Amino acid sequence: MTQGKILIVEDEEDVLELVRYNLQKNGYATECAMTGREAMRKARSVGPDLVLLDLMLPELDGLEVCRLLKAQAETAAIPVIMLTAKGTEADIVAGLEIGADDYITKPFSPRVLLARVKAVLRRNEAPVENDKSVIRIHDIEIDPGKHRVHVRGKQIDLTSTEFNLLRFLAARPGWVFTRYQIVDAIHGSDYPVTDRSIDVQVVGLRKKLGAAGKYIETVRGVGYRFEEA
Ligand code: CA
Repeated sequence: MTQGKILIVEDEEDVLELVRYNLQKNGYATECAMTGREAMRKARSVGPDLVLLDLMLPELDGLEVCRLLKAQAETAAIPVIMLTAKGTEADIVAGLEIGADDYITKPFSPRVLLARVKAVLRRNEAPVENDKSVIRIHDIEIDPGKHRVHVRGKQIDLTSTEFNLLRFLAARPGWVFTRYQIVDAIHGSDYPVTDRSIDVQVVGLRKKLGAAGKYIETVRGVGYRFEEA
């Protein structure tokens, strides 16, 4: 039995081989594509559990492939991890907003690759818990029913927006979200939230959380991520 079937989309042969070798060694079945068009064809015919998608591809680039995968019913649910170069934060943001699940910056170690693959496959089989269940992570306890937050047993007073922001991120540890995605998710709270005001909210929230504020990580040029426990 394999851990899952992974479609690797990469036009650089040495990177492709390295990724394939490490995935196979760890029990994953792999399929490979070296162009965007081949990737689209294989995503449909093979039905992978995950796509590892290089963004810099000839002809059809990775962002376009991601957009097409997410736009078509038969491939929309397949999680995508982007393989990106340093300094391509704008592309990373665009990819996440199209629907990619995560990204890995080149050059990456096999350990990072396997950890991200495992995390994304796991998050796909376990949907985020229902709305009212209490979230316990690190030393933080978030009770959506009572709208209360405790850090190490001590109650913290948060505004409605801060509460929604914390709950949204803490329910999805390890996921990176762009500011726009966060605004979109917590929209409908007590006052209008813009993408830049998210930064202000995060500063305020971290301050109130004290030492636990460090779990809200800034991902430079991309957005925010709540640290995995
Ligand atoms: Ca490439």
